[in-house]
Amino acid sequence: MTTPIWFDPSLCLIDGAWVPSASGQTLALVNPSDGSEICHIARGGQEDIDRAVTAAHAALDGPWGKMSALERGRILTRIGQLVLERVDDLAAIEAMDVGKPLTQARADAVALARYMEFYGGAADKVHGETIPYLDGYTVYTLREPHGVTGHIVPWNYPMQIIGRSVGAALTMGNATVLKPAEEACLTALAFAQIAQEAGLPAGALNVVPGLGGEAGAALSAHPGIHHISFTGSVATGALVQQAAGRNVVPVTLELGGKSPQLVFNDADLDAALPFLVNAGIQNAGQTCSASSRILVQRDVYETVKTRMAQAYGALTVGPATEDLRLGPLISDRQKDIVTGFLNKGADLPIAGQGVIVDYAPKSGAYVRPTLFADVPADHPLAQQEIFGPVQVLIPFDTEADAVRIANSTEFGLVASIWTRDGARQMRLAKQLRSGQVFINNYGAGGGVELPFGGVGKSGHGREKGFEALYGFSQLKTVAAHHG
Ligand code: NAD
Repeated sequence: MTTPIWFDPSLCLIDGAWVPSASGQTLALVNPSDGSEICHIARGGQEDIDRAVTAAHAALDGPWGKMSALERGRILTRIGQLVLERVDDLAAIEAMDVGKPLTQARADAVALARYMEFYGGAADKVHGETIPYLDGYTVYTLREPHGVTGHIVPWNYPMQIIGRSVGAALTMGNATVLKPAEEACLTALAFAQIAQEAGLPAGALNVVPGLGGEAGAALSAHPGIHHISFTGSVATGALVQQAAGRNVVPVTLELGGKSPQLVFNDADLDAALPFLVNAGIQNAGQTCSASSRILVQRDVYETVKTRMAQAYGALTVGPATEDLRLGPLISDRQKDIVTGFLNKGADLPIAGQGVIVDYAPKSGAYVRPTLFADVPADHPLAQQEIFGPVQVLIPFDTEADAVRIANSTEFGLVASIWTRDGARQMRLAKQLRSGQVFINNYGAGGGVELPFGGVGKSGHGREKGFEALYGFSQLKTVAAHHG
């Protein structure tokens, strides 16, 4: 695939300048659709992170720190406009880098623009309040940036995650250091280039690509950081929180999930069906909010199973450029992880499977989407995050059973309820242990306005919406005594 990469992908952005890593070392970036090498990216490390953090501190003392919220908002809005102008390029780059189908990559680029528009418009609308207090006092609160924020981003939705975390942090006046994933970091660099073009002052955004154990670990342990936003695996999230904890730095963790959809016997199955399948296989299942468990009331179980199996039969998997329903997984390593889970399901009936198109390159990281039936709620496939196009069907009898099974994993990111019974909708919305509950839909179109985050091992803190702006700022209370 020929792609218009209009920036030098082998560099870091530090203090407004594109520079090689201090060590001069690079890492190869691989196209998961065919295993070919795309280019080399910088292998940043401790020294680069030190320089990036120093640059961010300088930005806070310089023009960026002095800028009004209105001016910051205008820059974000301009970034959004430039992203929209480059949607096709960004989509082509992301499809090549992540292996996601072009339509999905395009939607991610549009979402990035939307984050910038939303946060750009919100910049001057987040403020403190006055608090009625004792006679003789005037008390008010100020919302101030944390200072320097670190952003460690995974490979599955680089543009969306950069939009929701870096976008919100910049809106509140923080200076940022972004460590994209080593498997896919081109759109992070493209975003940085666009931000420069939009007039973001030097040091407000610094990007240091590199390995997690090197650049990522250096960023999480850095004493010059005031807040960290991490999206990725539970194990790495715990390491990041531990490292940040030594500096008493607050951390937002957006980790994985095992998100259920609960289908009751009074559900509108025609409406539910596309969501039941798509929420599991979108981005080849490599989505933190993927719905990997489908809980179905016994009287409609066979119908749902048959209809989902049919839908699986029509799922095609192939190179990202072909824009089929699924692309490859991000890497051979991820393919090995998912294949390991498929092997763990050897004792389970397979209800349906998709097809890898015969022209898919043999070296791509492709797996067949697979729907398992009659899965016990405590089976590893019903408990562990797979991060691949694998869903399990679990039958249930009563509403109480459904809630118990839904709440039986260590995660709590998303749950959805399919029922026409309004009272049940309200009951379950309260009873489900989950950061998000969707009623007769899944994901609500991904709206940037909606706060998003998990409970339990799915993480803590909220991004997206105004809630992210509160998270990327801190409150100062001012109490004036005037006699
Ligand atoms: P990961 O959590 O290790 O990587 C995510 C980010 O963290 C990357 O930028 C990586 O470089 C960085 N990182 C890695 N080690 C680090 C460390 N010690 N300190 C600081 N940063 C570090 O995830 P992965 O290895 O890419 O994928 C493994 C599994 O994680 C997947 O199979 C999936 O289950 C899960 N995952 C979840 C999400 C999500 O959105 N929730 C995203 C990616 C992966």
